This record gives sequence, structure tokens and C-alpha cells, in this order.
Amino acid sequence: MARLLEHDALTILADAGVQVPRWAVVATALEAAEAAVRLGGPIVLKALVPMGGRGKAGAVRSVADAGQARTVAAELLGRSVGGYPVRRLLVMERLEIIEEHFVSITFDAACRGPVLLYSRTGGVDVERYAAAPDSLVRRPIKITGGLESFEARDLALEAGMQGASIGHIGQLLPRLYRAFRQCDASLLEINPLAVVATGAVMPAAVVIDLDDQALFRHPELKDRIGDEEGPGFRPFTALERRVREIDQADPHSGAIRFVEFTDGDIAFLVTSGGASLTVLGQLIALGGRPANAFDITPGRNEEKIYQVTQALLARPALRGLIAGGNVKNFTRVDVHVRAIVRALKDTGVDVRRFPVVLRFAGPGIEEARKIADGLPGVELYEDDTSLAMAVRRLVELVKGACIT
Ligand code: GDP
Ligand code: MN
Repeated sequence: MARLLEHDALTILADAGVQVPRWAVVATALEAAEAAVRLGGPIVLKALVPMGGRGKAGAVRSVADAGQARTVAAELLGRSVGGYPVRRLLVMERLEIIEEHFVSITFDAACRGPVLLYSRTGGVDVERYAAAPDSLVRRPIKITGGLESFEARDLALEAGMQGASIGHIGQLLPRLYRAFRQCDASLLEINPLAVVATGAVMPAAVVIDLDDQALFRHPELKDRIGDEEGPGFRPFTALERRVREIDQADPHSGAIRFVEFTDGDIAFLVTSGGASLTVLGQLIALGGRPANAFDITPGRNEEKIYQVTQALLARPALRGLIAGGNVKNFTRVDVHVRAIVRALKDTGVDVRRFPVVLRFAGPGIEEARKIADGLPGVELYEDDTSLAMAVRRLVELVKGACIT
């Protein structure tokens, strides 16, 4: 997931014709004071970090004038929020909010397309309100057709809005959807959407996540994500960055999902979506500590698997490796095994001391067997062994004892 910083998200909305509060980005307390003078009136200072919950973390602060802006900015700039050092602040005109609404557009698996959610109860506690089913209006959007103004007005009525706000929503939502499509977002969220005294609506906070797989279509945005990006709960680790480089260097040969667990010690390369997660859970349940979560979609992915394995094996203090996948029926398993064995050889891992358990089944298994035999010590299990049994074997080997 590639989350944009808020000023970039605001720019995207403005380019789509959405009226947004006036803002500036600053890197020092002095610049914050200067920006406050330029913007005039009360302002909001926000830590520019790619994560939610800043309000509750004390990283969104309201100030009355330039003097206060300077003091509060100095405080925020020295902090880190959710593991992200606060290097810059967004200085934003403070809206006089009458009501805090919530609007988001995302993809929904059930209706296989984009869905718009609207709620009249937004703000920092939105997750709590979402538990009350009546408070949310949910509207699938035709992916190419978009949302018409009259549909947006209907939605506003359905959400219980009245007066001038309905016309404003009629203008806003189609533009939001255009912005969402234009940048290939996977999420566009405005919380709060501020309703002000005139009935006009304006985003007071915006989050845009881009679809990683479509990033190659947006070179201008790719540069903007920069080094502040992360998996959503902390910044990327060096290894995650490396794996992303590998993944993005060739976007057409299988998509990688990779998260590092810095306190783990077992290299984890079991693929197949759900199976991957299930085996990860089994490994943990057996007392094993995975160093990472991993999956790769089918494709001509030998080189990617090779490179990821190599990058992962460079991590210090690993104690073993498990790789495998569901019984495949349309992808060759020898490709996978060749990539891993090649990486083990090239990295010079001593597999007599570093247990490696593979569990593969499907076309190419004879070839896979030969490849695995070429590196004595590697244990390859086939379709008479379940993934669960294979992971148990690996934990046994790593712990150097039978587990019950
Ligand atoms: P988040 O906690 O990371 O979602 O950060 P937000 O940018 O949404 O800010 C947190 C909260 O600060 C919002 O939910 C609002 O209640 C409040 N807030 C943000 N901007 C404004 C503003 O312009 N005016 C007012 N009155 N409140 C604001
Ligand atoms: Mn918010």
C-alpha cells in the first residue's frame, strides 16, 4: 500500500476541482509562524506522516496565531508519530466545523467494483459509529461511468442531509470519484468532511492510498511517496524497501506481498494467498517465529523469488527457511524450487546447519526433486505431506528436538 502524504492528497483533490482549505508545508517552527501569518486567522498544524489516528496521538493541533504556531510546531517537529519522525508539518486554514461527516471510496470484493461510503457521523471516533448500521450509506459506483451529480444528491438525502449541503454534495462526490480513478487509488477517505455554517462542505482531512500495482502508470506520484512510506503501521524496514524495489522493477511477473517481522528468525516463503497466511499462523502456533510474511502471485516469477530469497537470507540471525504452496495445477513448482535453491547456493548457506524445508506439489515436481537433490540437506516434501506437517518438521529441525 502506498499512502500519500496529506498535502499531495490535497493537491490531487484540488486538481479534480474540489475546494480544499488553504495550506502550506513547513519544515521549521519559523516557517510555521510565517505560514500562519500568510494564511491569517486560526490554523491547524498536522504532523505530515502517512498514518491515521494523528488526532488521538496529539499530532493535530489547533492554534490561534503565529506565536502559538511557532511554539506548537517546535514541539511537533521534535516528535515521532507511529514510528515516523515528524520532519514536516501541514499548516492548514482552520475550518469552523458545524458537523463532521465521513466519506470514503474504496474497492469492494463483494460488488467487484468501487464503493462509496457516506456517514453523517465522522471524526476521530468514526470506527465506533460505524458499528451502528444505520449511520452508513453505502453506494456501489459504476467503475467507468462514475457517479452523476443527481446520484450524489440522492445519496445526501438518504444520509439525512438538508438544505444547501445537498447541492454541495452533488458537486463534491463526482469530483472525488474522478480524483480516485485518475490516480488509481485504492482508498480515498475524507474524515472529517466539514460542513460549515453556510452549508458548504469541505475536506478537513484527506487520505489517499494508491494501488501499488498501478504505480508504474504514475511516475509523478511514485516520486512523492518517498521514504516515508510504510505498510500502514510503521515505516518500511530496509529489507521491505529492497523487496519493493525487486517487485517494482518488473511489475508484470507476479506481485509480491512482503512484511518483515523484526523479532522473527524463520525465513518464510510459503505462497498461495490464504494458504500462506494459514501456514504463517501454524508456524506461530508451534512456537516458531517467522521473520516475514510473504506471498507472490503466479507468473514468470523465478527471478523475483530468487532475488527475494537472496535478500531475505542476508538478514542476520535466521535459523531456518520454509517454502511451499498449495498443490498447484497451472504453475510449475520447479520454477519456485529452482529460484530458492539457486539463492541458497549463491548465498553460501550451509543447509546442514540451517534447516530448509520445502513442500511443493504440482507440475514440474520431478524436476523440482532433482533440483532439491542438488543441495543435500534440503528437505523436499510432496503431496503426501501437508503444508501443516511440513511447517511442523521445520520447527522440529530448528528447535533441534521433536515437538508434540
Ligand atoms: P487523523 O486523526 O489522523 O484522522 O487527523 P485529522 O486530520 O482528521 O484531524 C483529527 C481531528 O482534528 C479531526 O477529526 C477534526 O475533529 C479535527 N480537525 C482537523 N482539521 C480541523 C479544522 O480545520 N477545524 C476543526 N474545527 N477541527 C479540525
Ligand atoms: Mn481524520
